[in-house]
Amino acid sequence: MRLEGKTAIVTGGGRGIGREISRRFAAEGAHVLLADIDGERAEAAAQEIGGAGGQATPCTADLGRPDGAQHVFEHAKACFGGRLDILINNAGIAHHGAFLELSFEDWERVLRNNLTSAFLCAQGAARIMAANGGGRIVNIGSISGQRGSYGRTAYGVTKAGIHQMTRIMAVELGPRGIAVNAIAPGPIDTGITSMGPDQERRYLERIPLERFGHARDVAGAALFLSSDEAAYLTGSVVNVDGGFDAAGLIFSYTELTTVKSDVRDPSKSD
Ligand code: NDP
Repeated sequence: MRLEGKTAIVTGGGRGIGREISRRFAAEGAHVLLADIDGERAEAAAQEIGGAGGQATPCTADLGRPDGAQHVFEHAKACFGGRLDILINNAGIAHHGAFLELSFEDWERVLRNNLTSAFLCAQGAARIMAANGGGRIVNIGSISGQRGSYGRTAYGVTKAGIHQMTRIMAVELGPRGIAVNAIAPGPIDTGITSMGPDQERRYLERIPLERFGHARDVAGAALFLSSDEAAYLTGSVVNVDGGFDAAGLIFSYTELTTVKSDVRDPSKSD
């Protein structure tokens, strides 16, 4: 029970990674306010947690809008009596679209749902935490925020923004007792990513641990970053990607293991 008696908000908690984090946190003793744009999903997730003996309260809100975020914090105040120990800033949407074709509407929609929502929730949470002597914030970024890729202009920029916001928040909020870290997941097997079999195989060839991640892999990292064991961590971006980022872009993992970079090519001379 690493989060016994703690209060936590998990955004996008209705399904996928957020739902798994909510389950895990409740199982570790936290009271979770589970916020999602889809009220039925949030309700179902909270009921499932309650059925397993945990404590979860659903809340419906569009977190990309100031009134939506405000609604969540009003709800949290009623639930937690003005306290908040942990925010998991996880809500987000996927988007793929080539740079030259990216419409203003899509750009704006992805920024609002991924980055503006994270900013509004982080600021709302930090204000409560600062008034109470501290807390933990974990922002969910992405490997797409660390490396170049095709079709990820809007999505990748929001995730890079989340990583940078994490560092700036850590600097500004450290003296207030608030630790802020980010998790950068690689491909995780929630419904947000859909790939054909060939694309899946090629992706897997680039992951040293030879599998896609599960929501529970991200939940484990979120639990660690929210627990007492991570007391001296702030401003970090923790990759949960099976080594995908470390392996780099050029070779597939199988190809990478057969490269003999210490053997000179005799056809090339200085
Ligand atoms: P899911 O789509 O399964 O879950 C995200 C949840 O957040 C959905 O219920 C979604 O609702 C909700 N949501 C989206 N926008 C808002 C909003 N403005 N206000 C409230 N709720 C909102 O995604 P995942 O669980 O896979 O992803 C969770 C986070 O992890 C995201 O930030 C994603 O970018 C990040 N991530 C995921 C990876 C993956 O491979 N799965 C890899 C790297 C990062 P709706 O579906 O209706 O939009």
